[in-house]
Amino acid sequence: MPDPILKLDAVTTNYLTLRGWVHAAENVNFEIERGEAMGLVGESGCGKTTIALSILKILPPGAKIRRGKILFDGKDLVPLSDDAMRKEIRWKGISIVFQGAMNAMNPVFKVGDQVVEAIRLHEPDVSKDDAIRRTEALFEMVGVESSRVSNYPHEFSGGMRQRALIAMALACNPKLLIADEPGTALDVIVQAQVLQLMRDLKEKLGLSMMMISHDLSIVAEVCEKLTIMYAGNVAEYGDVKSVFKEPLHPYTQGLMRAFPTIKGERQKLVSIPGQPPDLLNPPTGCRFHPRCPYAMDICKKENPQLKKQGSGEHYVACHLY
Ligand code: SF4
Repeated sequence: MPDPILKLDAVTTNYLTLRGWVHAAENVNFEIERGEAMGLVGESGCGKTTIALSILKILPPGAKIRRGKILFDGKDLVPLSDDAMRKEIRWKGISIVFQGAMNAMNPVFKVGDQVVEAIRLHEPDVSKDDAIRRTEALFEMVGVESSRVSNYPHEFSGGMRQRALIAMALACNPKLLIADEPGTALDVIVQAQVLQLMRDLKEKLGLSMMMISHDLSIVAEVCEKLTIMYAGNVAEYGDVKSVFKEPLHPYTQGLMRAFPTIKGERQKLVSIPGQPPDLLNPPTGCRFHPRCPYAMDICKKENPQLKKQGSGEHYVACHLY
């Protein structure tokens, strides 16, 4: 029997603004098995980060999980208080590496001290000396010399900061690591090294991961499963091999055509026409219908639900299927 570490069941998170509710994530469903890495992919503003913040319940003021369940290790996080989330879930259960390695650290504290503080805040019984030793070991594990714990963030390169942030996220041995755009703002060489590190850590620690990215190639490098989001909805979901081999949703097909392939014949890159919708007033029916070349009458009226395709793990939300 599959035993997911994380299961989202019809999760709907909206932002209340002066102009009304922004429907940022609606009816989002997916699962991450233990030890598995899942990529969450889509254009900016499609709801990826909203989902990550919903899982950790660190949404900004005005945002609300209005429906659905977030089952982590079998327990629904939605009704949990902020206190319970802090004591039981954040850092120890689920940890996050925020996007923007250059800005995610406090510039006036030494990098090692920031990790030590995180350890002692969540595990008050750990002595300062033990926390320092753990931090040095974490630095070594992510490929940063342990002596660099006494450096300030401005003394680290972008790649080293990204590694230090990963070390910080692993400080309390989480079961699930969320990485929000881990390669953004890094040059391709450093990006490849960071992705290799994530793969190694996943293998070594048996970590489950959710990797948020707008870049399909990053997800293909690290993940076994893929969820494609469009305008707050899950468009397609399945194992990476099936989705790459046979993308079913017209939006996924459009994304694939917009990325260069390093195998097979050279192909002209084609962008998806139009713009993502305003989520204050999303289109009726399928939210992709104003941009979809296959849109039918039903697409304007009914929002398609995820349906299983074939015998493997492959689901698509589209009236064509
Ligand atoms: Fe296109 Fe209709 Fe499928 Fe939406 S449901 S992706 S509009 S064919």
